[in-house]
This record gives sequence, structure tokens and C-alpha cells, in this order.
Amino acid sequence: MSLALTRNELIRPLNLIDGTWTGAADGARFAVTNPATGETIAEVANSSAADARAATDAAARAFPAWRDKLPRERAEILRRWHALIVANTEDLAKLMSTEQGKPLAESRGEVAYGASYVAWFADEATRIYGDLIPQQQRGKRMSAVKEPVGVVAAITPWNFPLAMIARKIAPALAAGCTVIAKPAEDTPLTALALAALAQEAGLPNGVLNMLSASRENGIAAVADWLADARVRKITFTGSTPVGKHLARESAATLKKLSLELGGNAPFIVFDDADLDAAVTGLMAAKFRNGGQTCVCPNRVYVQAGVYARFADLLATRVAALKVAPATDPQAQIGPMINARAIDKIASHVEDAVKQGAKVLTGGKRLTELGPNYYAPTVLTDTRDGMLVCCEETFGPVAPLFRFDDEAEAIRLANDTPFGLAAYFYTQDVRRIHRVAGQLEAGVIGINEGAVSSEAAPFGGVKESGYGREGSKYGLDDYLSIKYLCQGGLD
Ligand code: NAD
Repeated sequence: MSLALTRNELIRPLNLIDGTWTGAADGARFAVTNPATGETIAEVANSSAADARAATDAAARAFPAWRDKLPRERAEILRRWHALIVANTEDLAKLMSTEQGKPLAESRGEVAYGASYVAWFADEATRIYGDLIPQQQRGKRMSAVKEPVGVVAAITPWNFPLAMIARKIAPALAAGCTVIAKPAEDTPLTALALAALAQEAGLPNGVLNMLSASRENGIAAVADWLADARVRKITFTGSTPVGKHLARESAATLKKLSLELGGNAPFIVFDDADLDAAVTGLMAAKFRNGGQTCVCPNRVYVQAGVYARFADLLATRVAALKVAPATDPQAQIGPMINARAIDKIASHVEDAVKQGAKVLTGGKRLTELGPNYYAPTVLTDTRDGMLVCCEETFGPVAPLFRFDDEAEAIRLANDTPFGLAAYFYTQDVRRIHRVAGQLEAGVIGINEGAVSSEAAPFGGVKESGYGREGSKYGLDDYLSIKYLCQGGLD
């Protein structure tokens, strides 16, 4: 895909620091590639700790004035940013598909989804209420107000290059925080375009600063943020090991943390489920973004009585998926993000087959399409102990596990250190309440495979992290409560 946009100035291979677009201090750059072809799209700034420090300096300087703006003034800028994102949907989608590989239709959907968080938090900015506490002692008045935490560092993954960063920056700005952000090394261009639009919307200099870096340099840049006491909060979406590292390293300055980490979502189909609806739900949840989402079902548990029929129905639908480059209007599955990802998927399938799993469809790389394509796959006869059961495959592979009763399904579903999303299909209303109550996950899909919404609280339990994004709760992570006690009033 050639990168000709309607507005080519949205391709920004530079850092945004204090309102100025600039290269890395030492002039270093690294290549961003198209996962469909391996070709270089652009050479972007390869930032170091010096650039990270400059971003923190700018955000710390900009904080008091941004904090002191009226909430509705912040909301107006967020609304203009939202309008600009929507108006530039085609360019953003094209940029995203080029660096990330997802089909254009999915990229357009992600632009709308990411923008919805900006609109949501523009509204929420004006609803940050405090409390007047009922009087406890004569002559004293007690109240609680909410204040922005300060400078926020946002670090994001490659699988949703726009939505993951938008749903951090928007609530931070709405709350009155200033932001330093580092998108993933595979997909910085979409995020940098988003920053360009924020600047166009009238965001004051230094309120949003963004830098790109290779993986190695990014670790050094983030280390500088972790050590800097002026950075009051880290908001991170990515893998659990990196989340744990950030939690450990931010302990020295006791930063507030939001961690949206990895998942290993179970998808349970009970005997009494509407099987067609369950297959449709699984297709939506499992194969979006080629299976590279944190809420993708990783383990599909099917009750013995419907196992064979469900497997057949699913395999027919999966075999019909069109795998093609993002530019093909018919594409449903694009390339995986990089060689590391495709090797992991292939190794999971090989491990399962070696241990007795059967391939109903797929199960192979599609090298004729390019370096990073994998065929959508359904595996049967999978069981505990296989890699597809205990690790996040992050690809278009649906392994089907058989279970006999409800208690066994719940035990298997919860038998993981992760707890982000879980799904189940049943038509028994009593079972709905029993199972929803027992599943250990932050997000539950009940007879539904598409769960994400800006109006809903998104986040995990256990080793999937803590903090919530979206909804009325999404601002709390960027606010601290100040208690005011006024005496001498009698
Ligand atoms: P990753 O953890 O490897 O990288 C995420 C970000 O952290 C990138 O920007 C990366 O450069 C940076 N990073 C990596 N090592 C670092 C270090 N030592 N110090 C500081 N920064 C570091 O994750 P990924 O492979 O990009 O993304 C996939 C993972 O993200 C999956 O586990 C997926 O489940 C998870 N994810 C979670 C959510 C959620 O909301 N819970 C959403 C999307 C993705």
C-alpha cells in the first residue's frame, strides 16, 4: 500500500515536544515497516532518555495552566479534536492499515471507536463532581474535591494504534492532566497523526507530548519517566510482564498506575446455547484484528452434547474467511504484526498437534500472500497443558476444549492467572446469573461477542491488571481526592 493520504502532512515522522515537531536530540531514526510486505513506510525519530526528559519538562511546565482552565474550556478543545479525528477518518484508517495490517474496514471502525472516547471524555470533563460531607462537628465544614494527578505517562501497544492511546489521552486531558506518550514501536505513525490533530484542535503547547522510539530506546526513555518524581502516573496497555516491570520500577516514586494487560479469555458454549448465535459471537470476538486483541477468546470450551455440531458450524465459517492485504476491500484477516508474532502462532499450533489436537481448518502459514500471514484455524481435541491453553496465542486460532458440566466449565475458565474478558452462551436465565457471578474477569460477554464501548468500564482483574478505561469510572484513574476541612465557622 503506497502511503498517499489526502493530507500528507498527517505523516509525522517526528516527536511532538512543547508544541514543536522535532527529531530525536541525537538525530537517530528507525524504520516503521508495512507488515504485509516488510517494506519501510517511514523513518521516524528514535528517541532517547534526553528526549523523554524534554517531554517531561514541557508537560510539567504546561500543567498549572491546563489544570486551571475551566472544565468546559478543556471540553471544547476535546470536542474540536474529536471532530478532526472523524473528519480525517480515511487518512487515519489508511495510515493504520499500512503500519498495522488490519483490513481498512476494521481501521475505519477503530477510528470511530477511538474518537468515541474523545467525545465521551469531553462530556465527562464537565462532570467532575466533589462532595460536601454532611456536618459531623459544629463549626466545621468538610468537603472533598477532585484534582488532576499531574503529568501522566502513557505507553501503548501496536494492536489498536489509535484507540488505545486515545482512551488514555482523552480522560487525562479531560481531568486536567498533561501527557507524555510513547506509542508502540511497530505503529507510531497513527498516534503521531492523532497528536497532530490535537494540536490543530488548539491544544496548548506542552499539554500533549509524544515521542517515538525503537523497542530498545523506548525502554530507556520510559525508564527516565519511571525515575522522574514529576511524573505522577503511568497508564499502560500491553503485556503482563512489562506491566509488572513498570509497577516495580514506579514504586520508588510511588506513582499512580493503570495497567491494562494481557488476557487468556475463555468462551464457554453450554448445551442450551443458541449455537448459531454462539458461532457468530465467537467469529466477532475471536477473529477481529486477526485474533490480535486482548479480549479475544483464547480458549473455547464447548459442552460435550454440542461439541461436534459447534465444531462443524465454526469450521465452515472460519474456512470462508478471506485472508488478504488490508487494501483488498474483501479482506477479513490481514497479516500478523511481525515475524515474532507469526512464529508464536505457528509454535502454538505445532505444539497442540504434537500433543494430539486435530486441525479442522487452517493450521499453516500462507507464505504465498507475504511473510506474516497465517490461515484462520480451528483445532479440536485440545486439552490442558497445551500452549494454546495457557498462553495468549494472539492470532487467528480457535482451540476447542470439551467439558461435561457447568462446574467443570467454570473451574477450567478460571484456571488462569489472567482475568480480562470472559464470554458464555446459554439460554437459561438462572445459569446466566450463576456463571456471571463466578467467572473471574473484568469484562463478561453474555450471549454477546462484541463488548467494547466508550460508555462501559473496561479493565481486568488478577494478572490482567487494574484501573478502568471508558465510562464514568474512566476519569478516576487521572484524579486524586483532596479533603478540605474548614474550621472556626461557629
Ligand atoms: P508489550 O508489553 O510488549 O509492549 C507494549 C508497550 O510497552 C510498547 O509501547 C513497548 O514498546 C513498551 N515496552 C516494552 N517493554 C518495555 C519496558 N521494559 N519498559 C517500558 N516500556 C516497554 O505488548 P505488545 O506486544 O505491544 O502488545 C500486546 C499485549 O498487549 C498483549 O498481551 C495484549 O493482551 C495486551 N493488550 C492489552 C489490552 C488491555 O486493554 N488490557 C489492550 C490491548 C493489548
